[in-house]
Amino acid sequence: MTVVGCSPAWPNPGGAHSGYLVEGPGRLLLDCGPGVLPRLRQAEHWPVLDAIVITHFHLDHWGDLVPWVWGTMYGLGRESPQPELWVPPGGADHLSALGQRLGFPDMFEKSFALKQYADRTPFVAAGLTVTALQLPHYQLETYGLRVANQSHTLAYSGDAAPSETLVELARDVDLFLCEATLERGELDGEPRGHLAADEAVIIFEASGARRLLLTHRPAELPLGPGLERAFEGLELDV
Ligand SMILES: [Zn+2]
Ligand SMILES: [Zn+2]
Repeated sequence: MTVVGCSPAWPNPGGAHSGYLVEGPGRLLLDCGPGVLPRLRQAEHWPVLDAIVITHFHLDHWGDLVPWVWGTMYGLGRESPQPELWVPPGGADHLSALGQRLGFPDMFEKSFALKQYADRTPFVAAGLTVTALQLPHYQLETYGLRVANQSHTLAYSGDAAPSETLVELARDVDLFLCEATLERGELDGEPRGHLAADEAVIIFEASGARRLLLTHRPAELPLGPGLERAFEGLELDV
C-alpha cells in the first residue's frame, strides 16, 4: 500500500488529499482527492489502474476525478484502459448531476467503467475483495472499506465519527488505516463526523487489528508517542 495523499479537508504543506494505492493482483486506488493524480503521474505518464473506489462525496476524497476525465478525453489518458470507478449507492446519479455543472452529464461514465457498490455487499475490484460498511460522517452517506486478498486484509476508515461499525470494519485486520482529523473529539460538529487520535486508538484496540496508521490529520496537530502517522510516499506491506 502506498500513501499517495493523506491531507485532511484542507491540504497539509506540499501534500495531497486522500488517495491510497493498493497493489496486489491488480492496482486499486482508494479515494482520489485533489493532488492525487499529479502524484500518480510522477511515477507513470498516466496512471494505469484496474479500479478506483470512492468512500464518499466530500471533495477531498474524489476531486481529482474531474481532471482525470479531462486527461482521459484530451490527454495521455486516451491511450490507457479505463479503470472501474466504484461509487456509493446513488453515486452514478450524483456524478451525472456534477457532470452537468462541470462539463458534460456523462463525462464520468465516458471516462470510467462506472459501478455502484452496496452496503455490506462484497465486490471484487482489481482482484481484491472489497466490502463497504456505512459509517456516520455528519449528514453525508459515507463508507469505510475492507480490502482483502486470500491472506491479508486492510481496513480504511474514510471519514468517520466514532461508532461500533468502525470497530467492526477494522476487526482483526492486518492494517487499519484510520482517520484522526481532530485535536479533541469535543471540538467536532453535531452530529459528529471525525475522530480524534485517542478515539482512533480506542477503536483500534477494540478491533483486534494488528497495526494502526493514522491519516487525514492536519500537519499542525501533534501525535502522542508510539503512534504512526501516514505521509505522502509512505509504502508498506500489509
Ligand atoms: Zn475527508
Ligand atoms: Zn468527509
